[in-house]
This record gives sequence, C-alpha cells and structure tokens, in this order.
Amino acid sequence: MPAEAAESVFPQLEALLPHVQKPIQYVGGELNSTVKDWDSCDVRWALMYPDAYEVGLPNQGVMILYEVLNEQEGVLAERTYSVWPDLEALMREHAVPQFTVDSHRPVKAFDVFGLSFSTELGYTNMLAALDLAGIPLQAKDRTLDDPIVMAGGHAAFNPEPIADFIDCAVIGDGEQAVLEVTKIIKAWKAEGRPGGREELLFRLAKTGGVYVPGFYDVEYLPDGRIARVVPNRSGVPWRVSKHTVMDLDEWPYPKQPLVPLAETVHERMSVEIFRGCTRGCRFCQAGMITRPVRERSITGIGEMVEQGLKATGFEEVGLLSLSSADHSEIGDIAKGLADRYEDDKIGLSLPSTRVDAFNIDLANELTRNGRRSGLTFAPEGGSERIRKVINKMVSEDDLIRTVATAYGNGWRQVKLYFMCGLPTETDEDVLQIADMATRVIAKGREVSGSNDIRCTVSIGGFVPKPHTPFQWAPQLSAEETDARLAKLRDKIRGDKKYGRSIGFRYHDGKPGIIEGLLSRGDRRVGAVIRAVYEDGGRFDGWREHFSYDRWMACADKTLPAFGVDVDWYTTRERTYEEVLPWDHLDSGLDKDWLWEDWQDALDETEVEDCRWTPCFDCGVCPQMDTHIQIGPTGKKLLPLTVKNAAPAPSGHVH
Ligand code: SF4
Repeated sequence: MPAEAAESVFPQLEALLPHVQKPIQYVGGELNSTVKDWDSCDVRWALMYPDAYEVGLPNQGVMILYEVLNEQEGVLAERTYSVWPDLEALMREHAVPQFTVDSHRPVKAFDVFGLSFSTELGYTNMLAALDLAGIPLQAKDRTLDDPIVMAGGHAAFNPEPIADFIDCAVIGDGEQAVLEVTKIIKAWKAEGRPGGREELLFRLAKTGGVYVPGFYDVEYLPDGRIARVVPNRSGVPWRVSKHTVMDLDEWPYPKQPLVPLAETVHERMSVEIFRGCTRGCRFCQAGMITRPVRERSITGIGEMVEQGLKATGFEEVGLLSLSSADHSEIGDIAKGLADRYEDDKIGLSLPSTRVDAFNIDLANELTRNGRRSGLTFAPEGGSERIRKVINKMVSEDDLIRTVATAYGNGWRQVKLYFMCGLPTETDEDVLQIADMATRVIAKGREVSGSNDIRCTVSIGGFVPKPHTPFQWAPQLSAEETDARLAKLRDKIRGDKKYGRSIGFRYHDGKPGIIEGLLSRGDRRVGAVIRAVYEDGGRFDGWREHFSYDRWMACADKTLPAFGVDVDWYTTRERTYEEVLPWDHLDSGLDKDWLWEDWQDALDETEVEDCRWTPCFDCGVCPQMDTHIQIGPTGKKLLPLTVKNAAPAPSGHVH
C-alpha cells in the first residue's frame, strides 16, 4: 500500500502496444472516466472485472462503485481489466506490472484491489492479475506493501474456493459497503497503520459485514465433508451478513456511465429499474441472493435515463433487472419513455423472458418505430412436470397463446430458452422441448399465414448454485448431459415437417462441470485453481480458451490428497445434515426454508411470488428489517422535458 512506486507505467506499456491486438482497450481516457490527483487522496481503490475490457467495461457493478468512490473527497478509484495473453507475455518479458487503465499506475500501489466476480470462471484471471501485479498469490504471504485483495459480486456468496487468495470478501450490494470499508481503512492509515494488515482485516471483520477467510478454520470429517467452520480469534463473528441497499432512489448510479473506446459487448446505457426477484425459480441464484424486491421509482428511472443519455450520447437504453417486465409500473415506464424519446430515435430495450402476452405488449411499445425481429421466452423446462420442479409457473398452453400473439403482432423469430440437467429430469422431460418447438412453429404458420417463421431452441446446462433450494442437488454428469442433448437434437432434426424451421443451440456439458466444481467447492478447490493457472489457464469463460482436460488433469493431481474428486463436488447429492462450505455466509435466506423448498421441488409443488401473495417466510425481510418494496407509487414519469413542443400561439398562455 505504499504511495511510492505509484508512477505511471504508460511509457513502458506504450512501447508494447503496437505489438498486441486491440491496443485501444489498454489506454483509458473514456468519456466519463476519472483520474484524480494521487497525492491528495488517502484511500485508493483499484477495481477489476476479471475479464477482457470488452466484457468488463460495461459491467454495471464496477461502474457504480467507480463513481460512488470517486465522488468522495480524498478517495480515488481506478479500473483494471484482464490483459489478453499476447500482452501478458510482453508484460512479463519487459517487467511491466498489472496497471489501471485510468492513470496506468501499478495495481500494487493501491490500498485495495477489489475484484467483482459475476462468475467463478474469472478465478484464474484473478491469479494472473495478482501475479502480474507482483502481489503474492497466497493471502498469508502478503505484507504492508500489498493492497488488501477483496472479492465481491455474485460468486463471492461462496468465496471458499478462492479463500487462500483473497484477504476478504463482501457479499451483497456494494454501494454502501465500499464506503464503510473506505472509512475503516482511512482511520487505520491516519493512526499510522497500527497492527499492520492483521489489525486492518480484524477491524473489517468485526463489523460483521466483511468476511476474512483467514480468521476462520475449516475442520473436516474423515469422509471429506466439512465438520465445522470456526472463527480462530475472538471478536470475529460466526456468520457474515450480506449488504442490502434499501432505497435505490438514493443511489441513482451510474450517473455518468462510461463510454467504451473499443467495441464492447453492450453498446448502450443501462438503467437498473429494480433489484431482487421473488418469483422463486429454484435454479436461480441471482433471484435468491438479491431478495427482497426493491423497485426504483418511475421518477427516479426517468431522471436516470435523461441524465445518462445526456452524459453519454448513447442511442440505446436498456432497462435492466432480473426480470424487467415485473416492475409494478413497467407499463407506464415503457409508454412514458417511448413517448418521450420517440422523435429522438432512442432505442429502448428490456431484457425480459416472461412468457405472457403482457410481455409482448411491452415489446410492441418499445419497438414502436423499430424492427420486430426476435423475442425471447424462457420456459426453462421442457415438460409440465419439470417446470413444477423448478417453480417456473408456465403451462405449454400459456406459451402457445403467447407466441401466437407474438407472431400475430409481426414478430417472426421466437427464441426459447431451456436448461438441461435439472434435478429429477429424465430424457422424456428434455425430449418434450422438441414437441413444444413444433407446436410453436405450427401455431406461428397458422397465425401469420406464412411458412417463413423461425423458432430457436437454446439450451444451457444446469449448474446447482449455493444459497438456492438446489444447493443440495446432484449435478448431471457431462456425459449424461451430452447424451440427453444428442437425443433431443436427433428428434428435432428428424422432424421432416418442422425441423428445418427450428434452430438448435446448445453447449456441451463439460464447462458446466467445472463451473459446478467452482460454485459449490470449498477451500480445497483452491489447489485446483492454482494448478490450472500455473499450467496456463486463463479466460475460462471463453470457449476458445477454456480447457476441460486441463481442469480435470489438475483436479486429478491435487484433489486425491484430500480424499475427494470432481464427482464428489458436482454429481453428489448432499443431505440436510451436511455443513455446506458457504453456511457461515448469510444471504438472509433461512436454510430450513431452502430445504423445505427443495422438498417441495421433489414433490413437484409450486410456490407463488410473494410480491403479490402473502409471505412464505424465506427469512430475508425480517433479517433485513424491511419488506418488499413495490409500487404503484402514484408518481408519474415527471418532470418531463417536453421535446419539440409546438410554439404557443400568440395571445395564449400555457
Ligand atoms: S421474507 Fe417473505 S415477503 Fe420477504 S422475500 Fe421472503 S418470502 Fe418474500
């Protein structure tokens, strides 16, 4: 954490850039980026999304924290992304350390190195960045010269597989949490860093909202399961709580969204319209860990869209959340924004896969002037039975009615999203996907009177995740997933009448097994991650870089010493009694409620959305001392800036 050695490395880096692909991603200076004076700040954060610039820059979490921190006096935040292997090799050769894109300072010179993990597949990229930064990979080897390495994001809800590499983790919403952490670091530095890193980490851990893995010992049973996780010093809480921002209107970030220099995955501005989801889909970790539902008001959304468009010049706005059509006032929001920006040709989009006619009304509204190309619906499961297991309350008749409306409204492409490998699933459940797609095409031809319509079936492998009712479930092996999907493919291709109108996209089951290992793994899995990194593993979220064979070879090398293997972590069903590696991280969900919901899944019993029905006692609201926050608020999408208002005729006062 020394302020010295904070010189920009740009001169050395610049010499390397002509020799790498897409050098522009490393130069910074984006519209709305910030470079604050180094010496006038006493707490400095390096924020990383551990993937390439094109994926990392649009990440809302990092963008929000970057702005929230930089707004504070005496605090600065800069961004760093994973460098591609071509630049990594040159940086190693020329001793250029991992740098921030804002001022090109070495990451090691910052007080905190904060990483946001949306997926576990970024873990090897974290190790690459630590090593390039000159920060020891193991937390226990770090000194006062190194930043505090902190993990956040959805994957941090089970940080055990990276417990050896991080100093701490924060779970839940980051906005307020980073400010609390900043305050503690500032005070500790002002006092002259008493007690070194250990004391700082202790002060953070004592709050109950920062998890410091080094302060907990994990004890194992002879069969490999965890016996217990115990704090190893007094004053450290047994359980660590998640952070929840209660009033989104108080946190209208990003106000000044970053505009990328190079091509990125999202070339648009995003406004988060609510957080949380209580639909209760049992496979969905994001829905479970972000409870309760907290809506941004319609006025707040209108202001963010207006301000963000002015600040960026983007011509497209995405209204984001886990299921955007579920905002209680989404009809008014969509109509209000479509009216307001009609003349400006601002594109509006709303990621929603809800299977109902209302969703199509919304899509129609948002594409008033635009092209009606494709709509996506997510029945998730092929049979009525499996949809009861996963609590996706959609009937096949609902779906057919909905696609009929879509095709009748001029939409020509329908994409259906499913999962394979769901608990209790059989071949028959998956083969019914083909029947469903066939009915969709038949209905589409009937409604549109045309044969020129398409339906794409897209299938992802199911990975059981921590803090969900499926956290105890056995994962389907890669071989069984592949065999099941091959049968489905043959059934679709074999359909002479409809097969040619059905597109089929699926991934093989192998990456899902590695994701499963990392999602439900414990500290022993850290040895696998390290071995993969040392063997050259990087960018595991990228098909062309991911190597299943490397992961399996490294697992075979490291896990037998602990008496466990990849199957033990993935395809093994857990019992009620088992201590799960993440039990001491409190997502607010009551473990017994999750277990009951798991039993309901096995009984094919559905549970309603508590937004509209009485509470089901999942535990979150009492724990957070809050309740579901939904409208209608009675507010309007005002103040509206009236565009192109007709000039008032003389003599009239408006
Ligand atoms: S505590 Fe009740 S109302 Fe709150 S999220 Fe859980 S089930 Fe819904």
